[in-house]
Amino acid sequence: MSAPAANAPRSTLDTLSYLAESLTAGWELPFRGEIYDYARAIDLQNGYAIKGPFEVEKSRYLIEPFQALRNPYVRQVHVRKAVRVGGSLIADLFVCYIIRWDPGELLWLSQDDDAAGKYMDERFIPGCLKRAPGIMEMFNAPVGRLPSGGAATGRNWSLQRKQFLLPLMSAQIGGLNEGNVQSLGRRYVIIDEAWMSGQSGLINQAIARTGDYPYTKKILIVGQAGTEGDDEDQQWKRSNQAELNFKCPHCHKAQPYEFSRKRDDGSWAGMRWDTNDITCPNGRWNYDRVAESARYECFACRRRIEDNSITRRQLNDSQHYIATRADGEASIVGFHIPQEANADISFGSLVKEYLYAKEQDNEYAYRLPLQLWYQKYRAIPWNPNLTMDIKRAIYEPYDVVSTWPEEAHRFLLVDCQKDFKEFWAVVRAVALSGESRQLARRKLENWDEVAKLQAEFHIKDQMVFIDGGYEQTRCAEECVKHGHVGTITVGREKKKFWFCWTLLKGSALGTFTHTDANGIKDQRIYGRLDFIDPNIGKAKTRQVFAYAPPFPGAPRSTLHAPDVPGAPRSTLHAPDVPSSSLRPGREGPQPASPASAESGGQRGQGRGPAAVVASPQGQSRDRAAAMRVPVAARVPYYVWSNLHVKDILRRHRDQDHAPKFLSLPDESPDTDVWSYTAQMNSEIRDQVYDDRGRKTSIWRPIPRRPNHYWDCEAMFIAVCAIVGIIGSQPGT
Ligand SMILES: [Zn+2]
Repeated sequence: MSAPAANAPRSTLDTLSYLAESLTAGWELPFRGEIYDYARAIDLQNGYAIKGPFEVEKSRYLIEPFQALRNPYVRQVHVRKAVRVGGSLIADLFVCYIIRWDPGELLWLSQDDDAAGKYMDERFIPGCLKRAPGIMEMFNAPVGRLPSGGAATGRNWSLQRKQFLLPLMSAQIGGLNEGNVQSLGRRYVIIDEAWMSGQSGLINQAIARTGDYPYTKKILIVGQAGTEGDDEDQQWKRSNQAELNFKCPHCHKAQPYEFSRKRDDGSWAGMRWDTNDITCPNGRWNYDRVAESARYECFACRRRIEDNSITRRQLNDSQHYIATRADGEASIVGFHIPQEANADISFGSLVKEYLYAKEQDNEYAYRLPLQLWYQKYRAIPWNPNLTMDIKRAIYEPYDVVSTWPEEAHRFLLVDCQKDFKEFWAVVRAVALSGESRQLARRKLENWDEVAKLQAEFHIKDQMVFIDGGYEQTRCAEECVKHGHVGTITVGREKKKFWFCWTLLKGSALGTFTHTDANGIKDQRIYGRLDFIDPNIGKAKTRQVFAYAPPFPGAPRSTLHAPDVPGAPRSTLHAPDVPSSSLRPGREGPQPASPASAESGGQRGQGRGPAAVVASPQGQSRDRAAAMRVPVAARVPYYVWSNLHVKDILRRHRDQDHAPKFLSLPDESPDTDVWSYTAQMNSEIRDQVYDDRGRKTSIWRPIPRRPNHYWDCEAMFIAVCAIVGIIGSQPGT
């Protein structure tokens, strides 16, 4: 720079003075590499677990978090990590990097002022900061002069445990407390062990400090997990929640580091260990022996991944993240790192920690070790349901095949899973008192199995309820296929009605307005009867019959059920039609009387109710034939309030001032997340802020916990409300 080139600006003096003001970091090109590239030159010492130059290749799970911190589109990086995976190092190296290459005001918070000061004195300043290239030169720049020789500012650069003062930035270091989060605006905010602040609101206040830097701010949240729903958890839920995956050394299938993961066939993948006379003599763990038997089992190929440094290194080398949530805020990324991420930690030590925690819990009712195990080793937030030490559904022996004199209705509730590859079903009988008995619960594989279960328990078409939350139209098509035209005697007349499976859908709305015949409005926890038309059959061949909603109210003696032969007597009464709706054709043209309608609903026993309407030839029991006959194609449809229905279900489940809610016994082990008991405890009630900033309550699924039976039973409660067992008004 000493000899101006021929094409330099005319006034060399102007140029130099401009450069002096702007290029304050010195006469050098800005560094464009990743944070971990810069950090390779840092010779870590003092309190750091791995001493010497930082090598990101040994901890590949840190690569993506570091990249996110440099990504110009990312504003918030959340690293939820187990202990001993070196997560705090992310903050330490990031701070060195920003001081050196991207200065801006920094607020760096951890559990409290004392701990923060100690960390600075004993670890960060001597072991990292002072060893980072180019940094001490900045602190040692002549007082009052910029390192580049620029204008004086009159400040003294200083390096103290609570504050760094540098030419282009300052850093404030302390505990996450009221005093520290009310400081001036900051471009960088780092919160270490954020989970410790519980539900204090301090995380939000700290983040709010970055408000002046909407496009350049960086927030880094690091630490283990705390408790479901705490402030740290709320931030985590805003992110894309990326899970650390590895590739199986045998089959190369990517999979998350799950401690235990159940396959569809009921077998387990993940951490495995032997339970035998050597590892568990006399029912007590020999921790060293059981640790020796530890290995990991691939979810895909089921082969053993042995517990040795070579295989663990192979896993490390294939580490990458997969986002588990597509609808997170784009500028917020989250990385979940369980302890297996660290190749230096043996599987055996993880198994030991787990079994110790389980034993304390099981044998001594001492729960804390297990809680800590989830939070510290799995980096999963604690919730009291996590261990399945939860109320089993109330169980009294009862015979599902014998008649229950009080039985008023019998429902089949079906929860449909993605692509209709899996169905979860509950059959439940209910008395008018609200007392109910579960008669069956099953996982099913296709619609035919649903129909078979219906036939097995002699359930009327209109008492089958399908969750229409997923692919509503396809569900509606199935509802129509499984319908029939039946005859009800009203007074002296025989009337034809259309009966089919009913669609239900949970709603975020709290209540729904209903208006009675007199125009009086009231609020209920389910919506008004609506219809879905899946458009099956041509209009000219289609007839529309009145739908008879399964309301109680009409005198039963006047009605004959058009029902499944062989149904238990108690369920054979009519579908309880209010007289006001007994107007056939009210919903459409008057029904003609095709032969097909005459024998509606008559089905051979033991055959699936796939036939919509029996044809005179009796050949319409298959799907194709069913499509050719005239059908009344509309499907009744109700929405129900998730919040209120699940509140009621919770009380039934816990027997908290609720009618008896009997269920079949659950023989599954406590650890089985697919068990009925676990599924019935798969959601928790939580308070959240809605779009308008109002606090509302919701039922929220616990991550990685199947909740299908819970959904089925919620549908049961919704149906009880629809048929009037729950919430019927006196006098109606
Ligand atoms: Zn494999």
